[in-house]
Amino acid sequence: MDILSHGLWGGIAFGRSNPKKYWSAFAFGIAPDALSFGLLFTQNILGFGVRPNFSGGPPDPSTIPAYIHALYSITHSLVIAAAVIGIMWFAHKKLPFVMLAWPLHILVDIPTHGAAFFPTPFLWPLADLRVNGIPWSDPLIWFPNLGLLALAYGAWWLHRKRTRGT
Ligand SMILES: [Zn+2]
Repeated sequence: MDILSHGLWGGIAFGRSNPKKYWSAFAFGIAPDALSFGLLFTQNILGFGVRPNFSGGPPDPSTIPAYIHALYSITHSLVIAAAVIGIMWFAHKKLPFVMLAWPLHILVDIPTHGAAFFPTPFLWPLADLRVNGIPWSDPLIWFPNLGLLALAYGAWWLHRKRTRGT
């Protein structure tokens, strides 16, 4: 899924109680992409590093630097996410609820990436199982996602309006 949708889904799923929690969940929602492709785009904006050509759709994955592939595997692994969240849970004796936006990102990515460009390595490093899904840029995913986001945020807005009695 696109990075903004990940943030919006993470925020509404795990950060509804207050604005601080919302933006924390939003941050965990975008983190897997921000810490992989985000670094590549930041580098490109700053004018250094390889510049893969995205103008004609997704480029050949072999033109993406190896360290981005490595970061993508780490940030898009349910195994790594579960381990990190488990450690935080143990350390704070409380489930870090907002962090669940991270595995949600991975679960959303699994069916919305095709095999041709960065299928989700969700079991890395234990297994190299990847799903050949429908890319999120496909209208079949893009428009239903926009509609569902609008529905979810509309319902949340209505609910808040009602519970506040205004
Ligand atoms: Zn992603």
